[in-house]
Amino acid sequence: MFPETELLSISGLQHFLFCRRQWALIHLEQLWSENYLTASGRVLHEQVHNATAEQRGNIRLARTLNLVSQRLGLIGQADLVEFHRLPAGETGVKLSGQKGQWRVYPVEYKHGKPKTDKSDEIQLCAQALCLEEMLQTTIPEGALFYGKPRRRQIVALTEELRQFTEQTARKIHEMFRLGITPPAVYTARCKSCSLIEYCLPKLGAEKNKASGYIRRLMEENP
Ligand code: SF4
Repeated sequence: MFPETELLSISGLQHFLFCRRQWALIHLEQLWSENYLTASGRVLHEQVHNATAEQRGNIRLARTLNLVSQRLGLIGQADLVEFHRLPAGETGVKLSGQKGQWRVYPVEYKHGKPKTDKSDEIQLCAQALCLEEMLQTTIPEGALFYGKPRRRQIVALTEELRQFTEQTARKIHEMFRLGITPPAVYTARCKSCSLIEYCLPKLGAEKNKASGYIRRLMEENP
C-alpha cells in the first residue's frame, strides 16, 4: 500500500507510454507545455467536467469523480462514471438514496481519434482499478469516447490489460523513486510532443550518457 505522499497521477501512465522522458519532465521536473493537441484535449475535458449531473433511464451519471488506488499508488479523476441499474438478482454496488444494485462503468473522453498504442485503454483501465478498489466491486468493461469521429468505443478490461496497467504503474513508481530524468532520444513522436522546446531532443541525443540501467528503463516496454 502506498502512502498519500507517494501517489502518482493516472495521466502519467499515458505520458510514460508515449515517452519515459516526457513522463519525467512532467512528473519529476513539473514541466508542462501546451501545444495544439493538449489544448484541444483540455477543452474537451472541460466541456465534460462542466456538464451538470444527469440521469438517463436506468443509467446514473457521475462526473469528475476523484479516484485513488493505494494498492497501485495512483490518483486521478474520472471524466464520467456511469452506474447501470442491474436486473434483480445481479450484484453490483449500492448507491445512496437509490434502490437496487448498479454496475460501475467508467467512460474516458479523448480528443481526436483512437491511437495505435494502448495508452488510452491503460488510462481507462487504471480508472477502473481505482474504482474497483474504492467501491469493492468488479468492472468488466468501460468505454472511450473519441472527439473525431464522435463515437464511443467499448473496452473490455481483460486480464492482459489489467496486468499491463499494473506493470506500467510499477514502472513509474520505480522511476519516481530513482528521481532521474532519462536522456533524450529523438524519434518521430518528438514532432507532436508538447515539451519539445524544453527537451531539445536533438541536442540531448548527442549527450546521451545515461547509465545502462536508466537507458533500459527508458527504452524497454513496460
Ligand atoms: S521531445 Fe521527444 S524525447 Fe523529448 S520528451 Fe518529447 S517525445 Fe520525449
